[in-house]
Amino acid sequence: MDKFNPSHLFLACPNDQKELIEYQDIFECRFCHKVYKKYASNVFEFMPSNCFKIDDEKNEFIKNYNKYYHQLFNQKLFLIPEIEFKAWGEMGKSTASGYKIFMEDEINLFKTLIKRHSNDMAIEISGGSGNYSIALAPEVKKMIHFDLDVKSINSAYQKSVKYNIIKNMLFIRGDYLQMPFHSNSFDLVLAPDCLERGEGHEKRLLSEIFRILKPGRRAIIDFHQKRSFSKNTSIKEYRLDEIKKLFKSLNIDQFEIIPLGYVPAKLTFSELSYRLLDFLCKFIIKSKRLIAVIEK
Ligand SMILES: [Zn+2]
Repeated sequence: MDKFNPSHLFLACPNDQKELIEYQDIFECRFCHKVYKKYASNVFEFMPSNCFKIDDEKNEFIKNYNKYYHQLFNQKLFLIPEIEFKAWGEMGKSTASGYKIFMEDEINLFKTLIKRHSNDMAIEISGGSGNYSIALAPEVKKMIHFDLDVKSINSAYQKSVKYNIIKNMLFIRGDYLQMPFHSNSFDLVLAPDCLERGEGHEKRLLSEIFRILKPGRRAIIDFHQKRSFSKNTSIKEYRLDEIKKLFKSLNIDQFEIIPLGYVPAKLTFSELSYRLLDFLCKFIIKSKRLIAVIEK
């Protein structure tokens, strides 16, 4: 019964990072014996036994995050035949030309930054509805779409089935603060729009990203930049020096920070207005988001 698929060797128990035994429909940890279910040949669930506790209840972001995280953590995975709802980042139905150009620009920037190799093992953390993971999957050997949210997993999975273009994707529901992967497993880790919930959260998530990254390889993450006119209180915004301090505290010393241009909040605008705003944000106003490319 013990037929471990060699292409699943990077998978580990999220509780203790120990090796797994693979069966037809499940994985079992050799150490704690927790069982993890396969929902389809490329849809697995690897939920740890307990929520990861970030102890900083005085911090507004962490307090809100803990509440939201518990809700998502306690969901049960199920696969549904057709998506009728909008998952995170679901923009497929938007016809606004400016938004489409923004998405294309961003994907192209990522393609340039990842320095792709056809043999790469890649993962998108918090992959949402799959805008990046599906677009970038053809660039790599294997693309893991990782998310905690059941709707997001469904949405991305359905998209990959519908377009029948992605044979090298694996969809995993799990917790990004306790990832079910052995250390040094990935050539590329993408985590856009994840670091926004305060320092305790950021430290844990970044250390997990750094742990699963292979030495010499790259992770691409981003931060919301603190600007003088910022009014946002629901997400953590960073100044450049705060990002550098955060990296230093985790012994991450090889990185490059690149300002992203205009990030649209509304979907209804034209290509021309997007181009104009993008230019302003790249060269005149401080950009809303800063992309960080980390090398291990
Ligand atoms: Zn275990």
